[in-house]
Amino acid sequence: MLKHTLGYPRMGAQRQLKKACEAYWQGRIGRQELTVAAQRLQEEQWRLQQAAGMDLIPCNDFSYYDHVLDMSLLVGAIPDRYAPVVTDVPQNTETDLAFAMARGCQEHGLDLTAMEMTKWFDTNYHYIVPEFRKDQSFRLFSNKVFNAFDAAKHQLAATPKPVLIGPVSYLLLGKEKEPGFHRLSLLPRLLPVYIEALQRLRDRGAAWVQLDEPFLATDLPEGAADAYHYAYTEIAKHCKGLRTMVTTYFEGLRDNAELAASLPVCCLHIDLVRDPAQLEQLLPLLPPKMSLSLGVIDGRNIWKNDYRRSLPFIQKAVGQLGEDRVMIAPSCSLLHTPADLALETQLDEELKSWMAFAKQKLQEVAELDRIFHGEAALLAANEAAIAARGASTRIHKPAVKARVAAISERDAQRASGFVYRQTLQQQRFGLPMYPTTTIGSFPQTADIRALRAAFKKGDLTQAQYDGSLESATRETVRLQEDIGLDVLVHGEFERNDMVEYFGEKLEGFAFTQHGWVQSYGSRCVKPPVIFGDVSREQDMTVRWSVFAQSCTARPMKGMLTGPVTILQWSFVRDDQPRSETTAQIALAIRDEVVALEQAGIGIIQIDEPAIREGLPIRKADREQYLDWAVRAFRVSASGVQDGTQIHTHMCYSDFNDIIRHIAEMDADVITIETSRSQMELLEAFADFKYPNEIGPGVYDIHSPRVPSIAEMEFLLRKAAEYLPARNIWVNPDCGLKTRKWPETEAALRNMVEAAKAVRAGV
Ligand code: GLN
Ligand code: ZN
Repeated sequence: MLKHTLGYPRMGAQRQLKKACEAYWQGRIGRQELTVAAQRLQEEQWRLQQAAGMDLIPCNDFSYYDHVLDMSLLVGAIPDRYAPVVTDVPQNTETDLAFAMARGCQEHGLDLTAMEMTKWFDTNYHYIVPEFRKDQSFRLFSNKVFNAFDAAKHQLAATPKPVLIGPVSYLLLGKEKEPGFHRLSLLPRLLPVYIEALQRLRDRGAAWVQLDEPFLATDLPEGAADAYHYAYTEIAKHCKGLRTMVTTYFEGLRDNAELAASLPVCCLHIDLVRDPAQLEQLLPLLPPKMSLSLGVIDGRNIWKNDYRRSLPFIQKAVGQLGEDRVMIAPSCSLLHTPADLALETQLDEELKSWMAFAKQKLQEVAELDRIFHGEAALLAANEAAIAARGASTRIHKPAVKARVAAISERDAQRASGFVYRQTLQQQRFGLPMYPTTTIGSFPQTADIRALRAAFKKGDLTQAQYDGSLESATRETVRLQEDIGLDVLVHGEFERNDMVEYFGEKLEGFAFTQHGWVQSYGSRCVKPPVIFGDVSREQDMTVRWSVFAQSCTARPMKGMLTGPVTILQWSFVRDDQPRSETTAQIALAIRDEVVALEQAGIGIIQIDEPAIREGLPIRKADREQYLDWAVRAFRVSASGVQDGTQIHTHMCYSDFNDIIRHIAEMDADVITIETSRSQMELLEAFADFKYPNEIGPGVYDIHSPRVPSIAEMEFLLRKAAEYLPARNIWVNPDCGLKTRKWPETEAALRNMVEAAKAVRAGV
């Protein structure tokens, strides 16, 4: 039984890659140093996996920026506009080209924008979207995979397993840049390049090659099944002697099981964490020579594996296929888990005993193998840890569970319908037409960050810290009054991050010191860990909202993060459904909403930017998700009186297929990101006749550019073509935390002028 991984976290436990890349971009280190840092990291990861007993060790899973981008470089799918990066600047290398494609380039007289980036399936990893033209040609361009193979082979004195994205998934990940063709039609031109690369790897001594085909676990577009047959038949024909492993993950094969089993490949990898039932489904379909790799260890989470659950899969598969046709592995690449639990010196020992990061997951793969071969003592230790977690009173709070069980339809509904509430709220707040507001955060300057850091370190007393936050808040309120905004915010200066802030105040959350996961390029996130039943034992935001309200006579908007977003941006429990955890968070937020209302805050915003990204991979599962997600939001929002105005906010998402659910959220006001789409996103709201109030963002907060009054006026007039004027709010696309003060102030002044101009025209 071979043991392997599909990929390993590439940042390094100390985020060495991030540091090296950023130093290179800033010119603090040269190319040589960058290369050495990357080599060291890879060598360390190869040796570590070998020492842990992995039989097939991946190479080429490493990337300076993104492995999909590397595939585009391998097959020469490089948009023409980037050619000058290497042709005009002789000292530039392929790595500089990759960085220019990923980040844009404003050096050496060049001015190139970056390629588009999007989320990798349902993860928080972002990849660079390949661009295809109708006459797209491909050629072997990059040598990275060959160099990685040679280096790993040299290091390991064993044959590493090169990792590539399979040809069909690679095409499906990309985008047509002109009309009149489908990207799958490029397959006959792409395949020869794949075949050439695979032959070269074989000739260098590769025994196995891993081809990632995650699209096999999705609803396939038309033509994809044929493309799969064609691609893998050609590869089998031309790459004799090379063993191909096709990997699938993040979902089950479901209706694609027969297709996957019919491909002429040597091994198929399946994700048994996401879809345990697919083993039974697949075993009878597997042809006599095909091996099966069992993804039994969760590559998307930080919990210790429950060996009692994993072993039956191995026993079953070995029973039917024999040991030589079964492999064990994590469910997907370990890219999505933090590097090493051993570094967590401040984490509570009990919690720590329930967890496993990437390095520990390697050990789990090895231990499962040993237990299968009779080392019962290892099983007992695991059982004890799992049982301790199952019974811990720190996790299970009967009162929380009982409260969730008792949530009624009424709890998920405002007392009256929107039309009635709207009248009441109009009387109460007396806002003008086209009321102006912002999304919540104001610039997080170096001073503010330093202030929070100093307090965390213990260098400031609570009173000193609060005093500084109060002055920052007071000044921001004053500025908003001066600018002439109608509904004000406190600025969120006390918050480091919109999820972490709430996690730190709620029960059931834990935080790591080094639990970093790559988000894109050198950017990493450190998600909180939800380990237990969530409850709110204290006010979380009331103090700051009340203080800010005391500084002004205008309405102050309370600012909260919604239950689905808190769930989505954390490592979640694997011992209960996500819907259950979300319902617990919803009740905690509901209590905070009610506390804000009681403290005199009349307008409260519950941000839910992550609702859309939580959509399941398979269409068939989406309705159910949206049901519980929307319900959780409604539970969080419905504890208040009709006269209290609930806002929500969502960043750039396409609302077309979820507009009904957005309407069901029944927020009095929703603010959305629209400026980059020139208001076109509003079409979905118009077609649906969305009844509640909407603030379509009138300027892009991702850029320091100050939009003119005329531009924003134009967008507002456009919005009024889609929506009833009395329902339109005026606001930026999102929070302003990443901006600087001067551009923020200038842009908001223009925004208020634009609102006035449109009002005057009504
Ligand atoms: N209230 C948050 C802010 O203004 C919302 C951030 C977000 O939507 N991502 O920063
Ligand atoms: Zn936003």
